[in-house]
Amino acid sequence: MSSGERDYYEVLGVPRDADEKAIKRAYKRQAMKYHPDRNKDPDAEEKFKELAKAYALLSDPQKRKMYDAGGMGGVSHFSDEDLFRNVDFGDIFGGFGVDFGVGGGSIFDRFFRQPQQRQTHGVDLRVRMPVTLDRVCHGGSELLRFTRRVACPACHGHGTRSGKPPAQCQRCQGSGRQVIASEEGGGQDYIQLQRVVSCPACHGRGVVIDDPCPRCGGTAEVEREESLKITIPAGIEDGSVMRVPGHGLPAGEAGMPAGDLYVEVYTLGDPRFQRHGADLWHTERLSVPHAVLGAKLRVPTVDGEVDVTIPPGMQPDEMLRLRGKGLPRYRAKGLGDLILRIEVVIPERLSDEERGLYQRLAALRH
Ligand SMILES: [Zn+2]
Ligand SMILES: [Zn+2]
Repeated sequence: MSSGERDYYEVLGVPRDADEKAIKRAYKRQAMKYHPDRNKDPDAEEKFKELAKAYALLSDPQKRKMYDAGGMGGVSHFSDEDLFRNVDFGDIFGGFGVDFGVGGGSIFDRFFRQPQQRQTHGVDLRVRMPVTLDRVCHGGSELLRFTRRVACPACHGHGTRSGKPPAQCQRCQGSGRQVIASEEGGGQDYIQLQRVVSCPACHGRGVVIDDPCPRCGGTAEVEREESLKITIPAGIEDGSVMRVPGHGLPAGEAGMPAGDLYVEVYTLGDPRFQRHGADLWHTERLSVPHAVLGAKLRVPTVDGEVDVTIPPGMQPDEMLRLRGKGLPRYRAKGLGDLILRIEVVIPERLSDEERGLYQRLAALRH
């Protein structure tokens, strides 16, 4: 209930000690005035709904008692459906030639019932798909294997042996809910509370399957191994998500479209390279003499090895950028770079000859 609601006695325009007859009379007079079929004022429907609520509450002795004792807070646990369950509007409006409906049901249905949240399609499914650097580099199709639940083909997603829609639950008339009344308090002041719980006969599904489908056991779904060809565009970024319509989970209702499949692509680790966007990083180890004097190295790229000339005087952790030897840029032109990081290896053990040479070098430097 919204906070903007007024006191229900004020809404009906009756004193707090008004008897049932006075309440009924007041409601009838006001409802005739504000019924949206007769009153074209844009606020009339809201006013009419407020009146109906006030009447539903104050005409029920127990609910009225709770309202008197606790105000809005005392009745806020009632849903609109609870409020209107036992109200007989036909008794009030019978013979007035205006469609007020017979019984509380139709006023409730027309003005208060929330449209059912129907799931129009199945739940989307998300899977992760590894791709090699080579695939990222060149693009192309990959076979994605995954398991998903699909509508059981044997029963057409109904869960019944016959393959026909199951019968409505008798106990809850298909609503999937059950109202439990419990009494609280003692003596004269006891009040009746109502709780809405999931229907125990159908577990809230609203239907009962007496003779379940042998293939799916009445669940209406089966697991199916699927494989899909996914086209990987060259240079696809790590974590990119591709949508494949209709390959998600089946809809809750037979005949509705399945959800979509979202494929998150990630780059498989490669011992040679680290990927940073379109750039690749690669580390080469270099001996001290080669770092000092320069060298020629065979360096791997995604398209085979290339010769790289290391200039003399290479510093530890210095980088060399090999332009255009990285991955294709995603949705852009050109190629990333291969960044070559040089690790200079300082020997921990020396032969006698090496030690001699280093000592001569040291003496020279001095
Ligand atoms: Zn049921
Ligand atoms: Zn089945």
